[in-house]
Parts: sequence; structure tokens; C-alpha cells
Amino acid sequence: MNYAIEYPGPTTLPVAESNRAFPVGRIYCVGRNYAEHAREMGHDPDREPPFFFMKPPDAIVQNGATIRYPQMTSDLHHEIEMIVAIGKGGADIPVDKALEHVFGYGVGLDMTRRDLQGEAKKMRRPWEMGKAFDNSAPCTALKTVTMVGHPSKGAIWLKVNGEMRQQGDLAAMIWSVPETIAYLSKLITLRAGDLIMSGTPAGVGPVKAGDRLEGHVDGVGELTVSYAK
Ligand code: MN
Repeated sequence: MNYAIEYPGPTTLPVAESNRAFPVGRIYCVGRNYAEHAREMGHDPDREPPFFFMKPPDAIVQNGATIRYPQMTSDLHHEIEMIVAIGKGGADIPVDKALEHVFGYGVGLDMTRRDLQGEAKKMRRPWEMGKAFDNSAPCTALKTVTMVGHPSKGAIWLKVNGEMRQQGDLAAMIWSVPETIAYLSKLITLRAGDLIMSGTPAGVGPVKAGDRLEGHVDGVGELTVSYAK
């Protein structure tokens, strides 16, 4: 292809234990998918259907990277999440067929400029500048379904500088992975390459320059990123 402008090519994630790369399409994030986190953000988890926001694919940061502390914020927050990688697209996917569309899973962070998100909520404006900024989506290599199955329970946690900050269990998701895929595929046509960030457990909090973040999902992986001093 003779591109008219300089084009860096697709953002990719490595596939664990292989030399293959997964080309990242859109990144859909589920809001408030763990009851305790919904409560800590001031919402009633029992009465709200799932909702979604997006990040651009080039927000991805590779495992092990050191990240510049983002501009225009003094309240950067961590949200540890399990990532679902879509391997086969579709629309109106039924719940009982949803897992057939999954390529694999990873561990990710939905980094959030909480001050900008809070201001957007107050002003009834879009969330993008709080959620979809540069380097806002660190993610591990993906493990295929063959390697990891379809995790529906197990620990998910995040440590900052070795100290436990977020702790939960995948079984506590309000909307399960198949329910999320089914619901999202009624709103948009999912494509191979899309990622879904499946929500964060309670304990979100601030990250400062110089902090080291370690995230974990049982069986899925370990994510480590640092913020530059
Ligand atoms: Mn999130």
C-alpha cells in the first residue's frame, strides 16, 4: 500500500508462547462491572445495565514499559481489569455462543484521569479526555483460549509499590464475559481484533510519578508498568 502520509501500522499485542502478534482494533471498556467498585463511585450496582466507553488502540502500552506521567491531570487512577480479545466478529451474538468469539485473555489497566472524568460527569460531557488519553491502556501479552480456557473466577489484584490496593474475584463481575459480549454486540458489530476491558474491582486510587504498578489475574498473567519520576 502506498500510504499518502506516514503510517505506523497497527498496534499489536504479543501472543504468549508464540511468535504471533494480535492486531488491536477498537478497545471497549465496561463501566462499573463490580458491585463494590460501583458503590465506591457512588452508584447502586443493582439498578444499572452495562454501559461502555472506548479507548483508541494506540493507547496500548506494552508490559514492562516505563510511562511518562500524563499531562493535564493531578489525579491519575489505576483500574486493574481482565482483557477479553475478540477473535471472531459478529452482531447480535447470543449469550450461549459468545465465548466462541473470544481469541484469548490478558491483564490490563484502564488508567483514568479521575479529575478530568469527574469534571466531565459534572458537566454532562463525554468521558474521552478522562479515559482515552495517551498510554492509558497498559496490557500484557494475550493467552489464547487453548492456554487459559475462559476464566470466570479467580483473583484479580493490583499492587502499587508492593502494597495491595485492589483485590477482587472475577466471579464478582455483575455482567459476565459472555453477557458483556452479547450486550455489546447488540450496540455495535464486534470485529476480530477488538478488545474488551471487563471492569475493575474496588480499591481504585491515585498513582504518582515514580510508582510501580503490578497487576495480576489468576492464570491469565502479570502486568508490570512504572511511571517515570
Ligand atoms: Mn474501568
